[in-house]
Amino acid sequence: EAITVQELANRMAEKGADLVKAMFKMGMMVTVNQTIDQDTAELLVTEFGHNIERVSESDIDLDTSYDVDADETLKTRPPVVTIMGHVDHGKTSLLDALRGTDVVRGEAGGITQHMGAYQIKTKGGDLVTFLDTPGHAAFTQMRMRGANVTDIVVLVVAADDGIMPQTVEAINHTKAAGVPMIVAINKIDKPEANAQKVRERLLEHEIVVEDMSGDVQDVEVSAKTGAGLDELIEKILLQAELLELKANPDRTADATVIEAKLDKGKGPLATVLVRRGTLKVGDIFVVGTESGRVRAMHDDKGRQIKEAPPALPVEVLGLGGVPMAGDMLSVVESEQRAREVALYRHEQATAKRTAMAPASLDTMFSALQDKQKVIEYPVVIKADVHGSMEAINQALHALSNDEIKVRVLSSGVGAITESDVTLAAASGAPIVGFNVRPNAKAREQVEKTKTPMLYYDIIYELTAEIAKQMAGIWGPER
Ligand code: GDP
Repeated sequence: EAITVQELANRMAEKGADLVKAMFKMGMMVTVNQTIDQDTAELLVTEFGHNIERVSESDIDLDTSYDVDADETLKTRPPVVTIMGHVDHGKTSLLDALRGTDVVRGEAGGITQHMGAYQIKTKGGDLVTFLDTPGHAAFTQMRMRGANVTDIVVLVVAADDGIMPQTVEAINHTKAAGVPMIVAINKIDKPEANAQKVRERLLEHEIVVEDMSGDVQDVEVSAKTGAGLDELIEKILLQAELLELKANPDRTADATVIEAKLDKGKGPLATVLVRRGTLKVGDIFVVGTESGRVRAMHDDKGRQIKEAPPALPVEVLGLGGVPMAGDMLSVVESEQRAREVALYRHEQATAKRTAMAPASLDTMFSALQDKQKVIEYPVVIKADVHGSMEAINQALHALSNDEIKVRVLSSGVGAITESDVTLAAASGAPIVGFNVRPNAKAREQVEKTKTPMLYYDIIYELTAEIAKQMAGIWGPER
């Protein structure tokens, strides 16, 4: 059932404009009068931290995210943790070291396989799930698909290197997702390590750690020696307790696809993370637009699993096709229903692609015709030197008026990277390159996402072009 942004805002007792803004951040350009689909509505509801019940559920759609589980059915579930940070700061080493603390793996003699996520049992018997695809690209892509699986981000900063560009990116992505962060100051075993300097430099990014009387937990670790790992796990558990993470384990399962691939021998395989309910061998399900039946499940230690409770990552066999990371797996009661739902989702996806493709400047223009009051013109800026970047920033901000504002999603110095393109594409923003060009990987991404690129080497030509585009939106009469 479709609902307009304004209606949804009313039901949530929020301002319509705030919803529009939130959607903009998720890469959707709509006005308050536009109708949105259920998936999008649900995203907004969770984004604003509300619970709403779906009014009239279509018989066919089974997006169960709206039927909220009653409080008394909820049980504490393990936290899901993602590790982010600058390249070479030790994300992979830390993931390996944390995996090494798993008491179950110790017992089982542990042959481990990479499947996108793993779970450890701590000495105290608590469970913690780690997504083992480090980096913010995976995190942001999942989020763009509406799959917010991460409860806690561990930001790794090497104590000998300090805050680096990708550290800042990770901070921005984490903040945008509203996920709490724990700072792990790594490589503390190195003689040149300076943890205090890391804490001080974090202040510049509004991260105030406990040590500086803030409320972000921090811990000094060494992925190499294992120092501080227990403390890191304790802090994760403490944060999890504060978040009161709960799910109803006694119902049919909903799960999120973390990773999927086609195995030559086994066919399509997907690693899923159960969000609620318990996934069982024999369950019939829909995942994305594919259907299937759970033939077998394995955990990250290669053990056969018959039942997967919330937050346990499992590899599932028995899919009809290869789904995408971020797809939702939902258990249904019959194959007939699985087919119906798969078909319905397929139609929805097609309709959505045409109606709600990530906002491009074009869709933004038409959104404007819907009399939206203040519209933002999103842009990503990359320049060869700091001075030009600042000058462009200022010049573009000066173009803003009451009706249309330039919104700089990010600005930086250096070649245009894949991460710049992902960010721009998520918001349908053009990338402005001032005396810089995309690197090879970024070029591929530009092709794929059809991100508009504006290359300039004279600032006033650049501002003139953008002014023209903005004026084009409003027409000469304004
Ligand atoms: P990633 O790129 O963030 O995944 O970083 P890696 O885990 O690959 O680590 C990069 C390099 O730093 C590797 O050579 C690691 O051996 C080294 N390294 C990681 N953690 C530590 C640590 O705590 N102490 C020391 N001395 N070296 C580390």
